[in-house]
Amino acid sequence: MRERLPAPAPAEGASGQRDEAAPAAAGDLPPSATGTRRSPYLASRLQGLGTTIFAEMSALAAATGSVNLGQGFPDTDGPEAVSEAAVRAIREGRNQYPPGGGEPELRRAVAEHRMRFYGQSFDPGTEVLVTAGATEAVTASILALCETGDEVVLLEPFYDSYPAAVALAGARPRLVPFRPPRWQLDLDALGDAVNPRTRVVVVNSPHNPTGRVLDRTELSAIAELCVRHDLLAITDEVYEHLVHEGQHLPLASFPGMAERTLTISSAGKTFSFTGWKVGWACGPAPLVAAVRTVAQYLTYVNAAPFQPAVAAGLGLPGSFFAGVAASLRERRDRLCSGLEAEGFALVPPQAGYFVLAGLPGWAEAGEPGRPGGSGDAARFCRELPGRVGVVAIPASAFCERRADLAGFVRFAFCKRPEVLDLALERLAGLRAPLAAPGPTSPMAPSGSGPSTPGLAS
Ligand code: PMP
Ligand code: GLN
Repeated sequence: MRERLPAPAPAEGASGQRDEAAPAAAGDLPPSATGTRRSPYLASRLQGLGTTIFAEMSALAAATGSVNLGQGFPDTDGPEAVSEAAVRAIREGRNQYPPGGGEPELRRAVAEHRMRFYGQSFDPGTEVLVTAGATEAVTASILALCETGDEVVLLEPFYDSYPAAVALAGARPRLVPFRPPRWQLDLDALGDAVNPRTRVVVVNSPHNPTGRVLDRTELSAIAELCVRHDLLAITDEVYEHLVHEGQHLPLASFPGMAERTLTISSAGKTFSFTGWKVGWACGPAPLVAAVRTVAQYLTYVNAAPFQPAVAAGLGLPGSFFAGVAASLRERRDRLCSGLEAEGFALVPPQAGYFVLAGLPGWAEAGEPGRPGGSGDAARFCRELPGRVGVVAIPASAFCERRADLAGFVRFAFCKRPEVLDLALERLAGLRAPLAAPGPTSPMAPSGSGPSTPGLAS
C-alpha cells in the first residue's frame, strides 16, 4: 500500500512548551499539546492546546523524508475480506446517514464480539453505541459525565486526547503515574488521586505508550477504588487484540464494575484501518444514553459503508485475531533487539505497537534533563530527522511534567520489517556524538535531509 502524505504543517518541535500566559485551567495540560503562544480566539479553558504531536511529527517525517516511527499507523492494509465488504457497501449504496446509534449489524457484531472474547453481555439495542473512532467515544463520554470542575483520573503517560477532552468538559485531570522501567502503575498514587470532586477514572489497557497490559492486581485496585468512592470508569481498549504477553482483562468484568463502566474500543488497531474511524462504547443503557446524547451533536453519525465492513471484521475467526498479534510480535522483537543493540534501554512492551525506549546512556546516567545530554528526549526527537532521517516521539508528549520520563522516546513498530530495518540502519548513524551538528538543521525545510521516497508519512 502506498501511504498518503500528510499535508505539511509547521514543525515547531517535538514537544511544545507550556504556555506561560495560559490560565490555571490549562496548567494541567500536557506540554506535548501546548502551543507557545496564546491563541487569540481559543476559549480560555482550551488555551495551551496546540497541534497534536502526531500530526506535527508526521509532517516533519514527510518534510524531511524520514522513516516515520512516530504516529501509530500501519503501513499495510488490513484484511481484504474487510476492505472488500466496505467496497461492496459503497457499491450497494450504503452511503447515507446510518441510524443514530450505529448500524444494527455493527452493534450486534460488537455485542457478539464482547461475548465471544470476554463473556460480557451487552444489549446491542441500548448498550452499544457506534462512534467516530475511540477518540469520539472517550471525548463524548467525558463531556457527558463530567460537570465543570469535576476531576478525572488519568494514568500518566496518557493518550493525548484525554487531557484535551477533560479541558473541553471544563473538568480537571488528576494524574497517576506508571513507573519506569517496568511501567507498573503507582497504586499508592492512585489512592491519593481520589477526592470528593473525582467523577471518572479513565483506564487505558493495553496501554499507549508504555505497552503495559494492566494485571489483575492493578485492575482490582482500580475497581475497588471506583466501587468504594462511587466513581465511573471509562476504559479505552483499542489495543485489546494486540497482546504479546499476558492477558487483556476488561475492567468492566471486575466485581461491581459492569454497572459503572463505559468500555470503548475501535476498529483502527485491530483491523489496520486507522483512517476509517469506526469505534464504539458499550455499557449500561443509562450511561450509553448519556454518551449518545453528546455524540449525536458532535458527529451525529459517521462512516456509513465502513460500519458493515467492521461488522464483518469482528466476525472473523479467532485465527485472524491471533495472527494480528503474532505478526506484530515479530516486528516488536525486531525493533526492540535492534534498539538495544544501539544502546537504547527498554523493556519489551507486553502489547500494542509502540516501545518506550530510554536514550542510550540515559538509564546509567539517570540524570533527568542533562543539558544537551542523553536525558533530553524532546530535543533528541527534534534533531533525529535531520541527523539520521528517523521520526519518533518523546515520552514528554504523553505526560505533564515527568522528569523521570525525560529520557524516553516512543518508537512505533507497526511497519513493514524492511522499514524497521531501514530505521535501525539509520539509527546506527547516531553513534556520532549527540551534540555534533547533523547533516541538516533539525527543522530543515521540506526536501532536505535523508530522502526515502514512499516511507515518510
Ligand atoms: N486510544 C488510544 C490509546 C490510542 O492509542 C488511539 C490511537 N489510535 C486512540 C484511542 C484513537 O483511536 P481511534 O482512531 O479509533 O479514534
Ligand atoms: N494513536 C496513534 C498514536 O498514538 C495516533 C492517532 C492520532 O494521530 N491521533 O500514535
